Amino acid sequence: MRNALITGASRGIGAAVAVKLAEAGYRVFINYCHSAEKAETLSKELRSRGFFSDIVRADVSDPDEVRRMFAELSNKYRGTDILVNNAGIAQTKLFTDITDDDWRRMLSVNLSSAFYCCREALPFMIRQQFGRIINISSMWGQVGGSCEVHYSAAKAGIIGLTKALAMEEGLSGITVNCIAPGVIKTDMTSNLTETDITALKEETPTGTIGTPEDIAAAVLFFASDSSSFITGQVLGVNGGFVV
Ligand code: NAP
Repeated sequence: MRNALITGASRGIGAAVAVKLAEAGYRVFINYCHSAEKAETLSKELRSRGFFSDIVRADVSDPDEVRRMFAELSNKYRGTDILVNNAGIAQTKLFTDITDDDWRRMLSVNLSSAFYCCREALPFMIRQQFGRIINISSMWGQVGGSCEVHYSAAKAGIIGLTKALAMEEGLSGITVNCIAPGVIKTDMTSNLTETDITALKEETPTGTIGTPEDIAAAVLFFASDSSSFITGQVLGVNGGFVV
């Protein structure tokens, strides 16, 4: 049975990924930062359905906390076979209003976190000559989002990290891929008004906005053996909004 660590799995896309991977037979580790109760409830729900699940707290923007999280997991449960770098934050601001703190926080939660987690996960993956790293970027990392320059920069960084790391780890049996979601209904997009949603749907070829389960299905594919010849790729799961 393979171990899957999903960062930021207490809510939204991460939580849907945890459910999907648990249902597919992975042992899932739900990382959270602030939402302890949500993480615990999700884990309990999964266990009550007969799946393996545990929770692990860490602020993934802090390298020491990430180190401690991986040490805890490897002491208790071998190591991490599947790493899903999903934790993220968003902020809408004019570029000229972005402060040094906004910039540092955005980059550390959305980009440095993936560096810290990959760095801790890789030694075990290399030793066993198998691993799957799945990074969650955004379509705004592909094309740039107005009033989200720091978010777009971090998400574009995730794409660069994915491609370069994939080149380095291919011979070790480790694939590194990236999913670039479009607009997905979660807390992150709860500030959108009905009018915004209608306009976004009209701009989207499928005429819909996405669900966390749409992203979870793509993560499951990248985690599975069916995707072993795919690495360094960016999969847009966006209803055709960006093609
Ligand atoms: P969400 O509903 O706001 O959930 C964010 C998750 O990230 C929560 O579980 C939160 O955990 C966790 N998190 C935030 N900061 C963290 C930290 N420092 N350490 C550990 N966990 C942290 O967001 P979402 O919509 O599910 O987004 C998930 C990912 O998809 C993000 O990377 C986001 O940028 C990306 N994405 C989302 C959309 C969208 O439309 N929703 C589109 C493109 C890309 P706690 O609550 O426990 O702190």
